[in-house]
Amino acid sequence: MGALIISLDFELNWGVHDVFTIENYGGNILGSRLAIPRILQLFQKYDIHATWAIVGMVHCKDKKELLTCLESLDIPYENETLSAKQNLYQVGKDEQDDLYHYGNSLIHMIKEVPNQEIGSHTFTHYYCLEAGQRVEHFEKDLQAVVNLKEDVTSLVFPRNQVNYDYLKLCNEYGITAYRGNEDSWIYGPYIKEMNTTIKRILRLADNYINISGHHSYKLEKVDTHPIINIPSSRFLRPYSNKLRILERLRLQRIKKSLTKAAKNNEYYHLWWHPHNFGKNIEKNLQFLEEILKHVNYLKRKYNFQSFHMRDFVDLFNLSKKS
Ligand SMILES: [Zn+2]
Repeated sequence: MGALIISLDFELNWGVHDVFTIENYGGNILGSRLAIPRILQLFQKYDIHATWAIVGMVHCKDKKELLTCLESLDIPYENETLSAKQNLYQVGKDEQDDLYHYGNSLIHMIKEVPNQEIGSHTFTHYYCLEAGQRVEHFEKDLQAVVNLKEDVTSLVFPRNQVNYDYLKLCNEYGITAYRGNEDSWIYGPYIKEMNTTIKRILRLADNYINISGHHSYKLEKVDTHPIINIPSSRFLRPYSNKLRILERLRLQRIKKSLTKAAKNNEYYHLWWHPHNFGKNIEKNLQFLEEILKHVNYLKRKYNFQSFHMRDFVDLFNLSKKS
């Protein structure tokens, strides 16, 4: 059988503080807090398993705890604006005071819903391919994740900056799987200098027409050393008012890939950030529901499943034994 794998990168403002201001993107962050309970409702309605890859700092209850955790986490990026510490000036006292940086109540909400996995998006939204940082800094970040005592085994690298030299270390800290990138030159880790216009245009078009393929895969084809790579198949692009005429095509593109995966016992990994749903919430939720309805149909017809990342690892371990 195949499955839809879902992972969400839950980061609040920590994932975007270096690219947006609260003034121009804060609405999306606040909107994500409204979207998360609605996404969870849909997941319950359609019996969907999902991995929530959470930035460690989002777990912190107040600024005192946050500052204590960050004490040992000085990351010498050449581009200093990437550092979480550069953002501390606009961080408030606690979640009541600052909805942009604290998310403990939302994490509790996620944990209340069955089949939701708590994963990690590193502690500080750590950029593994940026100049200046080294493996010893990453190790300290991993240690901070372990200190949260959340029994995390799935990791999503911020900006999809997968550093293959760091995977062995991840294994030592209990991480068994990560989300890799699509196997196409137009995808890959997000590094500003490498994000050329041509790549951006092709990636955009690929949401509506099949340019780079379906990116679904068989269990026996995945890389498993030193930890399991569960590659992305598609980023769920948010609704765009400007491109609304193309929404049908965007939905068809995903549904076709899912059907192909279901028919061929393959896996299709869909991911997004809750803040992508923070604007046009209703439109984004309707779109997600259309996908989940299709998955329901594929469940009945082809025994297609719903997985979070840990389910995939469990299945892999099971298949090794038999
Ligand atoms: Zn992120």
